[in-house]
Amino acid sequence: MTEVIQISEKSKDFLKKVEEISGEVITLCEQCGICTTSCPMAEDMDVSPSNIMRLVQIGDEGVLETKAIWFCASCFTCTVRCPRGIDLAKVTEALRQINLRKNTDYLDINRMDESEVEDLPTIALVSSMRKYTG
Ligand code: SF4
Ligand code: SF4
Repeated sequence: MTEVIQISEKSKDFLKKVEEISGEVITLCEQCGICTTSCPMAEDMDVSPSNIMRLVQIGDEGVLETKAIWFCASCFTCTVRCPRGIDLAKVTEALRQINLRKNTDYLDINRMDESEVEDLPTIALVSSMRKYTG
């Protein structure tokens, strides 16, 4: 039986925005968790890839504040394995784009100490610097 999720209009707008930017149908996600078990970056993420999808499905804008969306390396492993054909890398890219358009820093390396920067995965550094590349 298909689960019906009741969300507010604001949450619906956020879901629609992510679907428009990513070009993916987020509501198709069945929460199987294959993306999470396949993801090479999952251990470094504060929220798993399948939970990113869930948060977007329910229109929770808190997903924009997760570090996980910056840690996604766009490796497409989850994309290849997703049984619903969802390109999760496009979803994390859409979420990063929404943040970059707001000009908000969630990973500001200028405010981190040296040891924190050394522990960051390279992709997080690259993602955090993207706003400087136009
Ligand atoms: S693999 Fe696809 S369907 Fe399964 S949880 Fe991840 S995005 Fe959703
Ligand atoms: S594209 Fe991102 S979320 Fe998907 S497996 Fe690769 S790092 Fe993980």
